[in-house]
Amino acid sequence: MRVPFIAGNWKMNKDREGTVKLAQDLKEKIGNEEYKGVEVGVCPPSVYLHAVGAELAGTPIGLGAQNMYHEDEGAFTGEISGKMLKGFKCKYVILGHSERRHILGETNHEVCLKVHAALNVDLTPIVCVGETLLERIQERTIEVIKEQISGSLAVLTAERASRIVVAYEPVWAIGTGKAATTEQAQEVHKAIRGTLKSRYGEEISSTIRIQYGGSVKPDNARELLSQEDIDGALIGGASLKADSFLGIIAAASSLAGEATAK
Ligand code: PEP
Repeated sequence: MRVPFIAGNWKMNKDREGTVKLAQDLKEKIGNEEYKGVEVGVCPPSVYLHAVGAELAGTPIGLGAQNMYHEDEGAFTGEISGKMLKGFKCKYVILGHSERRHILGETNHEVCLKVHAALNVDLTPIVCVGETLLERIQERTIEVIKEQISGSLAVLTAERASRIVVAYEPVWAIGTGKAATTEQAQEVHKAIRGTLKSRYGEEISSTIRIQYGGSVKPDNARELLSQEDIDGALIGGASLKADSFLGIIAAASSLAGEATAK
């Protein structure tokens, strides 16, 4: 069984005080029964990794970064390496988020270099893929996703693939309040699982977690997370408030509890 994974992407929000307060609020409640059976991670801005890491040390909440560079060290002004993220005790790194692809021009090739570099230092990459509204209207969603998967995961062995998380995030659903329907999301997740299966075989593909991201809230989380190929969520806006983030974790936890009881 795939353990559901809920991750918060805090993006470039909040000041230091607000960021630390959010970490403290989550820390206070996360040990409670209603959040059991779910893996939880938060990805603060890199300048706050140290402060958030200090708050979350010894808790079940994992620390993640929102990006990294593919080289370990050297003359790369402004960049942060996977090795440095490991120094902050990061477990995860979000790679190829749509804001990086579409605002900052990141390519599949760059994402791929970062995926390999992250795995080299034992960070779990959360590899984001997703179509734009135009691509959906043109009925090119599956084609675009397959292209992003094959470009972002080029030359990745099955063993390496078994250590990644994929996040399907339709660009039109991010931060818009307009989540994909369960049918739309499940259709793409199933296609992603199929692509992973054709690359890595049944055994590996059935263990890779595929998160959904795009306007997930406590009130739509259960329906989305109950789909067969949706194994968690990457949350933007709703991860900035402890109550809404915890509400989503609680939904995942109750579904996980029901699945184990079957
Ligand atoms: C995201 O940016 O990864 C995201 C899913 O944002 P939101 O939840 O705000 O749509």
